[in-house]
Amino acid sequence: MSGVVVVGAGPVGLTAALTLARRGIPVTVLEQGGALATESRASTFHPPTLEMLDGLGVLKPLLAQGIIASTFQYRERGGGAIATLDLGVLAEDTAYPFRVQCEQSRLTPILLDALPAHARVRFGHEVLGLSGGDDGVILHTSRGPVRADWVIGADGAHSAVRRGLGAGFEGSTYPERFLVASVDEDLEAALPGIAPINYVFDPEEWLVLLRTPQHWRVLLPTPADTPDDLELSRLPQRLTAVAELGRPWRLLHASLYRVHQRVTESFRRGRVLLLGDAAHVNNPLGGMGMNSGIHDAVQLGGALADVLAGGSEFGLDTAARWRRTVAVEHVQRASHANWQRLRGQDDGFRSHVEELAADPVAARTYLRRACLLDSLEPQR
Ligand SMILES: Cc1cc2nc3c(=O)[nH]c(=O)nc-3n(C[C@H](O)[C@H](O)[C@H](O)COP(=O)(O)OP(=O)(O)OC[C@H]3O[C@@H](n4cnc5c(N)ncnc54)[C@H](O)[C@@H]3O)c2cc1C
Repeated sequence: MSGVVVVGAGPVGLTAALTLARRGIPVTVLEQGGALATESRASTFHPPTLEMLDGLGVLKPLLAQGIIASTFQYRERGGGAIATLDLGVLAEDTAYPFRVQCEQSRLTPILLDALPAHARVRFGHEVLGLSGGDDGVILHTSRGPVRADWVIGADGAHSAVRRGLGAGFEGSTYPERFLVASVDEDLEAALPGIAPINYVFDPEEWLVLLRTPQHWRVLLPTPADTPDDLELSRLPQRLTAVAELGRPWRLLHASLYRVHQRVTESFRRGRVLLLGDAAHVNNPLGGMGMNSGIHDAVQLGGALADVLAGGSEFGLDTAARWRRTVAVEHVQRASHANWQRLRGQDDGFRSHVEELAADPVAARTYLRRACLLDSLEPQR
């Protein structure tokens, strides 16, 4: 095998594969799992991501499964909305002035189906390491060696490609874990007036309420070192404290996870590119991880396609540097600021969002950054 080999069939790897395949480039995706992942993870698609998915011809089936969220709210725990921001103020900036709420596990089958015949996905192929040099790369896999002219490492936060390169993943781990609960409840009835996306301030126990097509999701902070069993046993009381339903909330699923803010040093090393969670991870507040990873895939995949069409590598290097700048200066900065604000560590933010809700010009500036429209290229 040669050509481009993408490691990982998550949203980022499959978007990269489709970007290359749409340019006529033969591409093979190696995925360790026996099938696409179905776990509950990202659920928000921002406007520029919708534009990119449209460009790849896969937006329509995603919209058919998602919920259009034109507004989101900042709220106060125990109180009502502090501010409702309307993404309609972005109408001149994007064809899609809204967020789409839909699980990432709904996008990956759409991407897989869209791949043409010259793109193959091989499940059950775990990449264990890599070696090689300027003229190609050998991937060592659970099924034997695989040769590639170029490798795209999109194999998630624990990336074997990144480790095989000996690349670092500097950053920090948050002092609290996040608990995500999916609930089978009508929160619009329980908390009248809420938006599909709600960020709720509280220094003690901030929270996020997100609607997905199938259910609502509640995100809560949780101490780092308490036993999982204890935290899960406390969850029913914590949900009742969000809204008293007169009975326990119907809980479908809950999981606890540690949150990191990390970025690798370089998104290109010779013939290997690192994209998505393999290159950068951040807290989920603001929904930027998968979105910025899809942007990596479209921009770096496009730049690699230019090289394979005979172009110089200057554009690829520029794109790799830019995507790292975005990860550090947009995604890490904004997601961390969102966490501090929810914890009540930014005194001025509450009045700032009240002002934003009343000032469409200021709201537009704020939302362009929050939804990553400002991160697409330096001058846009
Ligand atoms: C609870 C939660 C909520 C989130 N919410 C949001 C949100 O609202 N918005 C947002 O933008 N982001 C969100 N994120 C982050 C988002 O889920 C990730 O950023 C996204 O999944 C990254 O996609 P990826 O394709 O880079 O990696 P992954 O989705 O992790 O996919 C990597 C793929 O590579 C495969 N793989 C791994 N190792 C190997 C190997 N050695 N060989 C072959 N294959 C391999 C895996 O099996 C997997 O299929 C959330 C994350 C979590 C955990």
